[in-house]
Amino acid sequence: MVSFGNMKYICNFFLVALIFTLLPGCYSSSSMYVPRYSGYLERDYAPPPPSGSRPNTKVVQKTLWVPSKPKNVVHEVAPLETLWRISKMYGVSVESIRRANGLKDYKIFVGQKLIIPKARYFRNVIPLYPNSKWRYIVLHHTATEIGKARVINDCHLNRGFIYGLGYHFLIDNGTLGKGDGQIEISPRWIKQLDGAHCKAGGMNHKAIGIALVGNFDEERPTEAQIHSLILLLKVLTEYYDIPPSHVVGHRDVPGAKTDCPGRFFPWRPIRVALRGRVNSF
Ligand SMILES: [Zn+2]
Repeated sequence: MVSFGNMKYICNFFLVALIFTLLPGCYSSSSMYVPRYSGYLERDYAPPPPSGSRPNTKVVQKTLWVPSKPKNVVHEVAPLETLWRISKMYGVSVESIRRANGLKDYKIFVGQKLIIPKARYFRNVIPLYPNSKWRYIVLHHTATEIGKARVINDCHLNRGFIYGLGYHFLIDNGTLGKGDGQIEISPRWIKQLDGAHCKAGGMNHKAIGIALVGNFDEERPTEAQIHSLILLLKVLTEYYDIPPSHVVGHRDVPGAKTDCPGRFFPWRPIRVALRGRVNSF
C-alpha cells in the first residue's frame, strides 16, 4: 500500500522528471536584463521596407508545404511572432487574419490560437538584419524528443535566462503542433541580441545559435530538419559572409564540455552543401 507521504514523493519525482525531460540539453547564461513581454504590436518588429533606414534588411522565404486547395488552419503564436510574419508564413493578408479572429488591433499574444483563413501554403520566413558581429554559427540539439520555441523559451526563462530562448533559431521536428522542418525565429534574433547557448570561446557574443529539436545521441534529425538547416546555413553564411570553417558544433568549441549536438548529427550533407570544412577551427 502506498502511503500519502510516498504518493507525494512519487508525484514530486514525476514532476521533476517531466521538467528535466523538457529542458534543453545545453545552455549557458546571459547577464543582461530585459523585462518579460506579454504582447506587442506587429509594427514594432516587422523589418522596415527596402526604402527604410536599414536598406540591407532582407527576408528569405521558403515554402514547406502547399495544400491541394486553400484551407483554414490554427496557428499558435510563438514568442515575439507578429501578424506581419504570420501573414507571410501562410500567404494570407494581415487584415484577413484580423477579421477571422475578431482582432481590434495588431496585438497578439504568445500561446494565442489564431485561425488562419484559407492558408495558401506554409513557409519558413527568415528575417535578416545587417550586423557585423555575427562571425560564427554554433549548432546544437535540444537533447529532447519533442519541443517548440514557446516551451523552450519558458524553460530558459525558468532557468534564469532573462531574455528567454537562448538560441537564435529553432528547427522543429513536427512535435507539439509545429511543422517538421519549421524554422522558429527566436526573439533574440528579432532584437539582434547576444545568444545564451555557448559561453565557451565567447561564442554568445559572436555566434548565431541554431538548435534542432531532437536528441541526436539517439537518432538522426528528420530529413525536413536537415533541409531547413542547410537552407538556413546557406542564407546566413552568405548574408553575413561567414566562412564554412566557422560553422561548428557546440562540442567542437574549445572549452565547451558537452556532447551537443550529438553523435548522429548529419555533418556530411552540411559539409557538402557548404562546400567546405565545417565542425573544425
Ligand atoms: Zn548545445
